[in-house]
Amino acid sequence: MRNGLRNILVVIIIICGFLYLTKYISTFKETISDSNISDQSVNVNNSYKDDETNKDIKSQLLLVNEDHSLEQAYTPKDLTIPNIKFASGVSNEEKHVAGIIAKPLEQLVAEAKKDGIILLGNSAYRSYKTQENTYNNRVLLQGEKLADAYVARPGYSEHQTGLCIDITNQGKYFVKGTKEADWLAENCYRFGFIIRYPYGKKNITGIEYEPWHIRYVGKSAAKYIYDNKITLEEYLRK
Ligand SMILES: [Zn+2]
Repeated sequence: MRNGLRNILVVIIIICGFLYLTKYISTFKETISDSNISDQSVNVNNSYKDDETNKDIKSQLLLVNEDHSLEQAYTPKDLTIPNIKFASGVSNEEKHVAGIIAKPLEQLVAEAKKDGIILLGNSAYRSYKTQENTYNNRVLLQGEKLADAYVARPGYSEHQTGLCIDITNQGKYFVKGTKEADWLAENCYRFGFIIRYPYGKKNITGIEYEPWHIRYVGKSAAKYIYDNKITLEEYLRK
C-alpha cells in the first residue's frame, strides 16, 4: 500500500513536471516570436523615416554648387558601403555613401535588376582631400582654366556630401538612349533620387548634362522635381 501511494506521488510529480516544462517551452517560443515581430516593426518604421523628420529633410536637401561650398572638415553622417555591385577599379573611399541613402540605393539597384537592368556603382563619396588632389593634378596637367572647366574645386563637389553617386553599366557607356540610363532617368525618383544635372539646365546647375549622376533628396522632393522637370536649385527656391 505504501509503495502504491509512493508510485502515485511519483507519477503526479512527473505529470506536474511535464506540464510545467510544456508551459515553459511555449512561453519561451512566444518570447522569441514576439522579439522577431518587434524587430520587424522597428525595421518597417525606420524605412524612409528620412522623409518625415525636419532635421533629415534639411540634411538631404543640402545644396552644393558653384555658389554653395562645403567646409574642408565636412564629412557625411554614417558613411557606409552600400550592398550593391561596383564597376571595376572603384576606390574604397568612392564606394562609401552617407548612411541615409544606403537602403534607398540598394532598393533602386535591386528593382532595376528585376526589370533586367544591371546598374553598377561608379563613384559616390569623395573627400575634400581627394577632390583637392584631383583638382591640383588636373591644374598641373592642363592649367587652371581647363581644370576649372572639368573638375570641381575642393569643397564645390557634390560628391563630398555622400548623398550622390555616379552610376554606370557593364560597358561603362552610360549615355542617354542606353536602357540603363533611360531606366534610371524614369525610375530613380521612386527611391528618392533625382538626375542632378539634367539636359539643358547648365545655366541653373552650372554643370553639363550628366545622366549618370543621381542625388538623394528624399521621396517627396524627388517626385516633385521629377513631375515638374526642375532642378534642385529651382526646388529650393520655390
Ligand atoms: Zn558625379
